[in-house]
Amino acid sequence: MNSFYENGLQFGCKRCSGCCGKTPGVVYLSKKDLHALCAFFEMTAPQFIETYCKKETYYEGKTVLALQSRKNNDCILWKDGCIAYEARPIQCSTYPFWEWIVRDKAMWDDCARDCPGMNSGRVWTKQEIESSSKQYAENVPLQLEES
Ligand code: SF4
Ligand code: SF4
Repeated sequence: MNSFYENGLQFGCKRCSGCCGKTPGVVYLSKKDLHALCAFFEMTAPQFIETYCKKETYYEGKTVLALQSRKNNDCILWKDGCIAYEARPIQCSTYPFWEWIVRDKAMWDDCARDCPGMNSGRVWTKQEIESSSKQYAENVPLQLEES
């Protein structure tokens, strides 16, 4: 199927930190994200959840796992850069090639207004874009027991 990114899309993070804080946002964590972060911090899942996570409401009233944020909206893992960059959540590592952002050019351009890295930098191929988009779509946030 032809897409507007048939010839790829330009993206190069400018490290403005806009998607790691400053404005309200939620970083959801899947089971895979949680395992990667626990291994990175050498913590057990309960330790990591207690220290860095919060419950967050998701679609259909589900309660899922997410990273905490500070009062200024910065992600809890932000400290002049992501302190867990090598193990950052898939939501972060696949940005901006999320399935709903690459759905059409209008949406891509709309999101690009908040991210100076979009439409600049190297060209990501269609295959790379679709691989990221698929990873993002499959990375379902970890659902928590209702309490
Ligand atoms: S908003 Fe864009 S340019 Fe800024 S840190 Fe995030 S990905 Fe990088
Ligand atoms: S986990 Fe790291 S990359 Fe993701 S929002 Fe937090 S600081 Fe940014």
